[in-house]
Amino acid sequence: MTSRELFVDTLCLEQTRFVPLMLRDLTLALDVLNVPTDKVFGNEYDSKLSADCVLALQKMMGSDVTMGCIFSYGLEAFGGVTKYPADGIPYVSGNPLADPEKVDVLDPSSIVADLCIGMRRSSEIVRERRPDLGLCINVPGPMTMAGFARGVETFMMDLLTDPGLSEKIVRFSTDAISHEMKYMCQGIADAVFFASATDNPDMIGDEEYLAHSVPCLRRLSNEAHEEGYLSIYHPHGVFSTDDRLDLLDESIRTGIDGFQFSEGNEPSGITESTDGRCAVLGGVNAYSTLLLGPDKRIIRDTNRFLNDLADHNYIMTCSCSVNRGLSLNNLKVMSDTLHEFNEGRS
Ligand SMILES: [Zn+2]
Repeated sequence: MTSRELFVDTLCLEQTRFVPLMLRDLTLALDVLNVPTDKVFGNEYDSKLSADCVLALQKMMGSDVTMGCIFSYGLEAFGGVTKYPADGIPYVSGNPLADPEKVDVLDPSSIVADLCIGMRRSSEIVRERRPDLGLCINVPGPMTMAGFARGVETFMMDLLTDPGLSEKIVRFSTDAISHEMKYMCQGIADAVFFASATDNPDMIGDEEYLAHSVPCLRRLSNEAHEEGYLSIYHPHGVFSTDDRLDLLDESIRTGIDGFQFSEGNEPSGITESTDGRCAVLGGVNAYSTLLLGPDKRIIRDTNRFLNDLADHNYIMTCSCSVNRGLSLNNLKVMSDTLHEFNEGRS
């Protein structure tokens, strides 16, 4: 069985014998080849260099799935500003909808511009070189794109003070994600990944979550299926407690194929709802255990997630995306622990 088959079969709830490894690598791969961030995100996105980095990290960790490219959010297409520090992570420094009237003027489809085209090309190269690997394309979730476009704090205020405007911003953002997803995934992706840090009920409240995140996610997940690939959703916040059962249930009912829980969730509280309905992703805390170690703690936590989740259509990630600066050695300890676990089941 190839890594790609293992990934797709797990997402389709067709196997639980082995646990595939999917590192949601957005920029960490730059560290493997020691490439400055602004070298990939130069005047022109360097697709070949991006693909070289992605595959170097894959080889080092033995992961089954790649995200295809070194990732950024592409808000330049809407007049936003992203900074690319040489040894750092891309960050948004100018929000394209800082002036809210722009939401009536900008065309969501214009997101498919230079950066998207370059990132797509990187994923194509990865697909051509390694057709045996799973390929999962990263895009933002609905409220998360809205936060990037408008500025998270300003958007939170809009939700409270101007429902008409926030509705427009969410619609614009979901349209933009739809265009980005279709362009980036077409003909090459096994799945799309909705990175949804701001689709977080702890942050926006349960009502806004149900009113905005859920219907927009349903639309995007349906579109992914119509286009011929699967969908994975990664909201932040706690979903494993009894008071959040409804929210988790509504999220799964959108038709997603995989749910990645973030830090602070109890795995059993998630699998109670996901079992038989969608695959589960998640794992070691990326901001404490994986960042700081030591090895013993990483091994202990990795094994705990494996023991709790391996029989539940589980794809091992860690709790969030991995970015440059994270210790490659620590990540290798996690992936080695997983590979030993899988060998024990073969
Ligand atoms: Zn996350």
